[in-house]
Amino acid sequence: MFLRSLSLKGFKSFADATDLAMEPGVTVVVGPNGSGKSNVVDAIAWVLGAQAPSAVRSQKMEDVIFAGTATRPALGRAEVALTIDNSAGLLPIDFAEVTITRTLWRSGDSEYAINGVPCRMLDVQELLSDSGVGRQQHVIISQGQIDAVLNARPEERRLIIEEAAGILKYRRRKEKAERRLAGTEANLLRLQDLLREVR
Ligand code: ATP
Repeated sequence: MFLRSLSLKGFKSFADATDLAMEPGVTVVVGPNGSGKSNVVDAIAWVLGAQAPSAVRSQKMEDVIFAGTATRPALGRAEVALTIDNSAGLLPIDFAEVTITRTLWRSGDSEYAINGVPCRMLDVQELLSDSGVGRQQHVIISQGQIDAVLNARPEERRLIIEEAAGILKYRRRKEKAERRLAGTEANLLRLQDLLREVR
């Protein structure tokens, strides 16, 4: 599984539609300071479902939309599409190529799509959850993050390893099931109380 291409339109400094093709192996992005290298990495994090504005170095999510320059007006929406080669079938979907698209409008509306079909953010998360590319995105290591991992408490480090190993999904499902079970037990107790009252 590798990243085939990234298309950006209205995302941060990429006002014009920009397509970046990638080959298997190492891809290096080079350019002068402030030219948008990190914005490319932000776009990958964003399209994979980054939720916190800080995950894409922003104050608020709307900041990812091209804000305009002295000569060019701001745009109304940001769109990023990431195409992943899935010929090895690591993503649980019957396509050799998977394109995930995320769009955000200035109104706050947003949309995700998988191979052009609109879907929920949850569907994207589920699709990626066994690939190690989860919500916490440990495949994207930013400056300073290595220190944070090394300095994390053992329980926090365990969560990071569990997410990378694809276990976190099952832990979340188990917690959800336990909450429902507790709710059902509470309902049962209440029912028993009511029964006692009517007898
Ligand atoms: P360095 O080498 O210094 O780390 P870089 O190449 O990684 O730089 P980025 O941080 O990716 O650069 O890009 C910064 C540029 O992106 C700045 O010029 C900033 O004004 C521009 N930028 C960020 N968000 C937006 C936005 N919403 N609209 C327009 N431009 C933006």
